[in-house]
Amino acid sequence: MTIIVLIKQVPDMEKVRFDREKGRIDRSSAGTEINPFDLNALEAALQIGENTGAKVVALSMGPPQAEEALREAIARGADEGILLSDMKFGGSDVKATSGILSAAIKKIGDYDLVIAGIQTVDGDTGQVGPEVAGLLNIPHISSVEEIRSYSEESIDVVCSVWEGLYLKRGRYPLLMTVTKDVNVPRLPSFKNKMKARKAEITKWSAEDLKDFTDETKMGAKGSPTKVKKIEVPSQSQREGKTFKNDDSTAISEMINVLKSQKVLKQEV
Ligand SMILES: Cc1cc2nc3c(=O)[nH]c(=O)nc-3n(C[C@H](O)[C@H](O)[C@H](O)COP(=O)(O)OP(=O)(O)OC[C@H]3O[C@@H](n4cnc5c(N)ncnc54)[C@H](O)[C@@H]3O)c2cc1C
Repeated sequence: MTIIVLIKQVPDMEKVRFDREKGRIDRSSAGTEINPFDLNALEAALQIGENTGAKVVALSMGPPQAEEALREAIARGADEGILLSDMKFGGSDVKATSGILSAAIKKIGDYDLVIAGIQTVDGDTGQVGPEVAGLLNIPHISSVEEIRSYSEESIDVVCSVWEGLYLKRGRYPLLMTVTKDVNVPRLPSFKNKMKARKAEITKWSAEDLKDFTDETKMGAKGSPTKVKKIEVPSQSQREGKTFKNDDSTAISEMINVLKSQKVLKQEV
């Protein structure tokens, strides 16, 4: 059994700055890390792998430095890492990204389960998982927050959709996206850190994927999304006020303030 985990390297969003003039993230302003939800995806794969003997493959599309994220995945327990990196992939929107990832999964060929995070902390569309499943023509289960049981043929999970919780069984091949509630990711172990340092990371370029996709579907050329404008929302000014009178006076004073600010209608 083979499990593929989709791993995206993202900027540390606590530290990253936004370039207001260019209207984009200044990626040089902060370090990088594995997208936090992808650590949950990896942990889910590792737990299933430990109980079924499945091989866990970490797959990432990104610039050459995304190799670090794959080494970290191996340090946490993944068996191998594959990096999809090529100038031709630059400028890919969600559609092109999903196309490149699904082409690589087709090239891997022999897989049972694909696990992705529910969303990233930078792009945050939550569309890549379901789009990859669509392009692979396999079923998917989104927003998995509990894994109940699994075998070598299928998996039983609880997923949350709006207010509801659904118990679902999926037969492989299957893609699922996981939330932070699904598990607590393990830390890298010393032994695996040593393994990660020496591990050979497989690198595939556009040329390596040519039997499964073509260059018109990659990068800016293959990206129908056109960004017209990016704006950083202006920071709202907040003002605090303490009402120190007895309760009923304080409440009526507060209502008057809310009416004057047009938060409450005048007749309230
Ligand atoms: C016009 C346009 C141009 C862009 N150009 C660039 C660019 O040049 N460089 C750039 O970095 N971004 C670029 N982006 C952003 C890029 O399209 C998104 O980061 C990418 O499509 C993933 O979308 P997301 O972050 O919303 O992922 P989500 O859909 O929120 O991610 C869900 C899950 O999918 C998996 N996943 C997502 N992305 C990857 C990945 N790359 N590798 C492995 N697994 C992944 C992860 O498991 C993740 O948790 C561009 C976007 C647009 C619209």
